[in-house]
Formats: sequence, structure tokens, C-alpha cells
Amino acid sequence: MPDKKFFRCTVCNDIHYGSGGPEKCPTCQQVNKYIEIDIEEAKKAAGIE
Ligand SMILES: [Zn+2]
Repeated sequence: MPDKKFFRCTVCNDIHYGSGGPEKCPTCQQVNKYIEIDIEEAKKAAGIE
């Protein structure tokens, strides 16, 4: 299983799934704003429940 995790931009709440958070957010253009979140938080943030 690939070591992928969920990350959330603390500025615009964009969700990213991958091996690391993006350096620059593609949505709000802020740098180093992604934090790692768990699957439950990711579901909530994405509105999937
Ligand atoms: Zn953002």
C-alpha cells in the first residue's frame, strides 16, 4: 500500500491526497500552509460522510 496521506490547506481548506503536502497551494497560492489530517477529518472537510 502506498504511503499516502491527506493534507489540508489551513488557509482555504483545500484537500490534497499524496505522499506530502504541496509546497504551494494551487487554490490560494500560499506557501507551506498544508497540514496533515486524518481520514475522518478529510471526509468531513470534503463533505463526504
Ligand atoms: Zn489554500
